[in-house]
Amino acid sequence: MSAPTLSWSDQLLGTEPRLRDRTLLSLLGSLVYLVWFLVLVTFGIPQQRVSPSLGLTFMLLMVPGMLLFYPLVRSRWTERFADPALMSVQILWGCLVAVVAYATVPTGRAALLQTMGLGLVFGFMSLTPKAAVRTGVILIGMLLALLVCGFVMPLPDFRPAPQAIKLVSAAFIMGLITMQSHKFARLRERVQTERRELVGAQLALERVTRHDALTGLLSRLYGQERLDREHQRAQLTGRTFGVVLMDLDHFKQINDEHGHQVGDEVLVAFAQAAREVLRDTDLIARWGGEEFLIILPDTHEADKALQALERLQARLRTTVVSDMAPTLRVSFSAGYALWSAPEDVDVLLQRADRALYAAKHAGRNRCVQAL
Ligand code: GH3
Ligand code: MG
Ligand code: MG
Repeated sequence: MSAPTLSWSDQLLGTEPRLRDRTLLSLLGSLVYLVWFLVLVTFGIPQQRVSPSLGLTFMLLMVPGMLLFYPLVRSRWTERFADPALMSVQILWGCLVAVVAYATVPTGRAALLQTMGLGLVFGFMSLTPKAAVRTGVILIGMLLALLVCGFVMPLPDFRPAPQAIKLVSAAFIMGLITMQSHKFARLRERVQTERRELVGAQLALERVTRHDALTGLLSRLYGQERLDREHQRAQLTGRTFGVVLMDLDHFKQINDEHGHQVGDEVLVAFAQAAREVLRDTDLIARWGGEEFLIILPDTHEADKALQALERLQARLRTTVVSDMAPTLRVSFSAGYALWSAPEDVDVLLQRADRALYAAKHAGRNRCVQAL
């Protein structure tokens, strides 16, 4: 079989949605660096807007942005980290380039400050609360360090006093963005936790509603659901299935003679024996107090159903059903029926129930095939 061909966007970004989000952001970042790199080598350096040595510094700073982050994210190598999109590193790297540009190239300084704010906003969607604060604090630190540099060394066209107003107010705005980003990240974490808890509660609820608390067998509700599903499957595939309705014999008497606790133990022991004796694919549900339903998928011959029941009868003849009454044995009566198209589930169950009644009537501890 040939492997499915992936579209170019799948190859570029990956197929898994979260990976695609991450790689798309990295790729857009790479493109931005690429554009600036091209601007630098085609205009910036040839037209002497930046000196060759400064141009080289920028080119070196842009190389990781262009060539490193995207392949690391796309190859899933970064999945070992808490921040697999490398969002924090990418934001800070971009801001570092912007700060160096701010210090050394006088034109377009206002745009650089805006770009840094925008970079921080990208963190909104994916940074953890801690990473949001860390990123914001480092960025503000960079701005203040830039200001200090402006006071202590000669930067081109950099008059410290007016620049101080600009940089401090930019740092203040970055601080506000950081606070909001932190708040948003905490909110997102809470929503994720709540969603996990909700899924857990839903699974627990399903476990409770699908299983009988005493015996661990399927509940009546879920047994009915599985029966309907088996019925649908048989209608589609034509593969016949069987059902058995069974009822423990003289169970009231067991309760009366040995107590309710022994009665409970008998039910548990019976369920255990049935599970052991039946095929893994057979389903057994507690249908009522001491009544059970067995679904036998892929069963085309009534003999096969009978054989399964006889195996269970034989097992019960030697099974100690309660340590408090070691000599006590339990038997059951059963009615079994094979489905054939186009019979309804209700009619099938009615036939099995009538056969069960006939088994009781004929003296119990026996299995009767439905008419
Ligand atoms: P038969 O052979 O005709 O089926 O007689 P039986 O005594 O088994 O049937 P009957 O319907 O008269 O009594 C069933 C008893 O099962 C009555 C009820 O108290 C008991 N029972 C139902 N559920 C439980 C349970 O969870 N634990 C215990 N210990 N007894 C239960
Ligand atoms: Mg009964
Ligand atoms: Mg009974």
